[in-house]
Amino acid sequence: MTIILGCIADDFTGATDLANTLVKQGMPTIQLIGVPKVNIDLGDAQAVVIALKSRTIPAKEAIDQSLAALAWLQDHSAQQFFFKYCSTFDSTDSGNIGPVTDALMESLGEDFTIVCPAFPTNGRTIYKGHLFVGDELLSDSGMRNHPLTPMTDSNLVRVLGRQTSQKVGLIEYASVINGEKAVRAAYDDLHQAGVRYAIVDAIGDPDLMTIGAASADLKLITGGSGVALGLPENYRIGGLLKDTVAARLPNQKGHQAILAGSCSIRTRKQVTVWQNNRPAFKINPSAVMEGEEVAKKAIAWAVPLLDTGPILIYASDEPEKVAKVQAKYGSKEVGEKIERVLGTIANSLVNNGVDRLIAAGGETSGAVVKALDIEALRIGTEISPGVPWTESIGAVEIALALKSGNFGEDNFFENAFDILQRGDA
Ligand code: ADP
Repeated sequence: MTIILGCIADDFTGATDLANTLVKQGMPTIQLIGVPKVNIDLGDAQAVVIALKSRTIPAKEAIDQSLAALAWLQDHSAQQFFFKYCSTFDSTDSGNIGPVTDALMESLGEDFTIVCPAFPTNGRTIYKGHLFVGDELLSDSGMRNHPLTPMTDSNLVRVLGRQTSQKVGLIEYASVINGEKAVRAAYDDLHQAGVRYAIVDAIGDPDLMTIGAASADLKLITGGSGVALGLPENYRIGGLLKDTVAARLPNQKGHQAILAGSCSIRTRKQVTVWQNNRPAFKINPSAVMEGEEVAKKAIAWAVPLLDTGPILIYASDEPEKVAKVQAKYGSKEVGEKIERVLGTIANSLVNNGVDRLIAAGGETSGAVVKALDIEALRIGTEISPGVPWTESIGAVEIALALKSGNFGEDNFFENAFDILQRGDA
């Protein structure tokens, strides 16, 4: 099977979000954690999303990593390319969306693309080039205070204009609402006027389907995961996309475990609900910081229980307690040490027969995947919006659900295992 769509995502959970969207639209998709160093069996995948961690690193490094990802995708015969960034356009005046797009365009020899972070399902809409988060302009939303990428201007034509020397234009909603032909005509008009990057208005999923259809001939598309909604249909119409089952469930049947490192409201609620009738072990952050053998203790607790059903090991705590530990030991230090402990625990659990594993927390998920040395994930059935079951490809073959802290319903953990169990039947 050849790859049709090759994607480069500027962070891990954003990559999963995009891969999940493609799978839901019927496209078998594999997510790679960085540019692979070894040969990966792509199986029946027709889309590949390479997850980088390039959102907030220096622009030069983001360019180098993105070009390496592009080269890998070209080597694997991808026919169309997608640069995925955050639906809140997380960036600064020095990058990285503009510089990376410039570099990808130059490498591909292209001179026109679209820029569309709209994700209406999550309240991200674009009107007259202004990005809204729910009912607020981006610049009035919480994003204005983001520690790394404060977004204080909602006008994407201006924001991108400060990140690139290329000409930036706008395709207004009036064109989008008139359908694919009108959008294609607007692309042509802007292109002829010397515009290289067109911000495209979109306020609902039907708009994204229109934009997707109109973008069938663009070599590179840039945006949030939303604009990928319409792409699989292009490949279907073009006879490229084979009729396969994209959203497979992993069929692992071994032990089950959850590792929670997120301290978000949602994850803490999920932990509480789980604890009502299931075994759970709390990691003491102070003990971790004092160098006690916390991972060993957690594993000694977990191993005898694994035969009886799924278990939870969590570091999640209330904000006051987190603040106290952070004040004493430093927030970066505490975060990293707990992540390392959870990674060690993940490894021991897998060595003790766990092959169905949930990780709660973005950084936590990254730490678990790294500790397990996982380079590729086949994206499977969605458990809850934005969170799919995945299956690792390579030496370790396990079912993994990687959840950002604030995702999932209260009974997410139980529900995730139930879905797998039903798949077993
Ligand atoms: P989220 O997706 O909710 O942001 P992350 O896993 O990305 O979750 O981030 C949570 C961070 O908090 C991690 O670095 C984790 O190690 C750290 N952490 C977990 N538990 C505690 C705790 N009890 N005190 C302080 N930090 C913690």
